[in-house]
Amino acid sequence: MKPPIKQKTSEWIKTTGAMKLVDGPGMGLDYIPWNFQCLPMDIAQERSTKKIVIQACSQLLKTQVMTAIAINKMYNDPANFAFASSSEDDIKKFKQGKFMPVIETSPVLAKLVTSKSDKAAANNAKQTELKNGTFIYWLNMNTPKDLRGITCSTVLLDEVSNLVIGEQGNPIKLAEGRTSTFGQDALTVVASTPLFKNDLINSEFNLSDKRYWYVTHKCGHEYRFEWDQVKFQFKQLENGRAIPDSTTSKLLCPHCEEVIDEHTRHQMVDKGRWIATNPDGEKGVVGFGISRMYSPLGTIEEMVARYADALYNFNLQTFMNNEMGEVWEDEYQKEVDIIALEQHKSDKFNLHNIPENALAICTSTDQQLDRLETTVIAFNEKDVWVLCHVFHRSHDCTKDESPAWNELEEFCKQQFKTPSGRIIPTLACFVDSGNATQTVYRFSSRWAKFSPIKGGKSIDADLFKQSTRGREKLVTLNTQAGKSTVRKLLNHLLSDDPDAAPTRLHFSSSLPFDYYEQLTAEELRPQGGRLMWLLKKGQKRNEALDCLNYALIAREYAVTKLGTKQPYRKLRQFKATSQEETTAAAAVQVQPVINKEETKTKPVPVKHTKVQRPRNNWFGK
Ligand SMILES: [Zn+2]
Repeated sequence: MKPPIKQKTSEWIKTTGAMKLVDGPGMGLDYIPWNFQCLPMDIAQERSTKKIVIQACSQLLKTQVMTAIAINKMYNDPANFAFASSSEDDIKKFKQGKFMPVIETSPVLAKLVTSKSDKAAANNAKQTELKNGTFIYWLNMNTPKDLRGITCSTVLLDEVSNLVIGEQGNPIKLAEGRTSTFGQDALTVVASTPLFKNDLINSEFNLSDKRYWYVTHKCGHEYRFEWDQVKFQFKQLENGRAIPDSTTSKLLCPHCEEVIDEHTRHQMVDKGRWIATNPDGEKGVVGFGISRMYSPLGTIEEMVARYADALYNFNLQTFMNNEMGEVWEDEYQKEVDIIALEQHKSDKFNLHNIPENALAICTSTDQQLDRLETTVIAFNEKDVWVLCHVFHRSHDCTKDESPAWNELEEFCKQQFKTPSGRIIPTLACFVDSGNATQTVYRFSSRWAKFSPIKGGKSIDADLFKQSTRGREKLVTLNTQAGKSTVRKLLNHLLSDDPDAAPTRLHFSSSLPFDYYEQLTAEELRPQGGRLMWLLKKGQKRNEALDCLNYALIAREYAVTKLGTKQPYRKLRQFKATSQEETTAAAAVQVQPVINKEETKTKPVPVKHTKVQRPRNNWFGK
């Protein structure tokens, strides 16, 4: 074997023409790295570098740098190395569409690979043997056994944002583990366009020294290109919407505000430098972040056209990820202020003091081993009052004979009334069947208003979907979409203009002490390339959130079951009728039309609590 050549990878590529462009307008020409591409490939040769993290826009830095590091290894410092991506398909595309064409068109590298007809070479989809006996491995990071079987000094990981931390652990760590026997010679390169805050590439990048490419304007100001330095006018479309007019775009220096034309931008990019911005980064972990604003190929005007497209299609995330190389922060990823939420509790209403303008009731029950937790909401078209969250406890609630089920039945079948005595119809009672399916099915057959429910797996599904399994009617809920709605309504409640909410939530002060903590126990976290509502670290209880989520979906479900396009009108008509009946005071036992499925139960005495002023006003801070 040749001793390692002490020449920078970028210099070697520039002087030997070892790497040809295999696509784009310059196809067939020598690849000459741009200045901002040099350090990320050269730093791989430094023994102090343990890991290189590239969080970048698409097609500007990642593939060129990974390919350059790999071919330098092949030619100048031969040892086994591995490429890995987030799917079989991705790794095949990279191998056949990007990497092997570079090797085959290279005057110096083509000689290193065994020919396809060489039967002695151990080539297959997972590995390519080189003439010197070293291997390139092609791995799917979603298949942990792919990662376990090999050892090599260098692993290059692409598009890691789509990966999930599964039962087997963090796939990046698993891949890094393959290099552990090589000590200081080990190197991991992780690259991806990011998706969401704290996804796998973003987490790796945040642990690095976070270098960005800084440019200097002729006024002397050294800075990073950022999107708010691009100015443009809006144009009105025929459909009344307005989008950026890309022909008016200008890039301004944030210091002297002079317009930077394309020629000047190219010069500034060429003369720029990487500056580390995170002094707390892990030792030996080097991070590079770059956006398309630095691209010598595209223009700022073209970017504004894509930005206008993204705005028009409500797809700013794709623009942020693919063009700016930055994470997308969902508005619901922000924390909710529990203390502010607590101040919105109201003494004005509870289960025995239901607001007079309520039109109907829904309940929802979450089954736990030792208890059933039930939330009761009253509502009209604009308001939802969370009246109570109650517990029916008994031993082993997975069993039919558990007394909690009888208590729940009695509780749900009670006739809810306002202080004036008006009956509020109960429209639907959702019961989660996730933990004790057959028990909940049997329980639900006791009354037509009980519906067994379960959370669906798809995050794109309808909010609720009824299906029939044998004799059982099951309602499958999109709990992920529902939880986003809960968070949206909570954010509205805490906003400066709570009345702007599509639905105003009101919480009774009779709710349990940790109710709000449970309501905010989950956060949106990236999982499998998507954002999912998951329990925050350290949180265990979220039944209050589940129940409110179910109850709000029950409300949507129930109004569709009223058999009219104007369900709230029907409910108002019912309210008017029952008010008359209440006033007449004679028609005590009349079963209202809407309650026709109801079995007769003893009316529960209504406590006429005095209406109190809330301690805090609605806007109280
Ligand atoms: Zn300037």
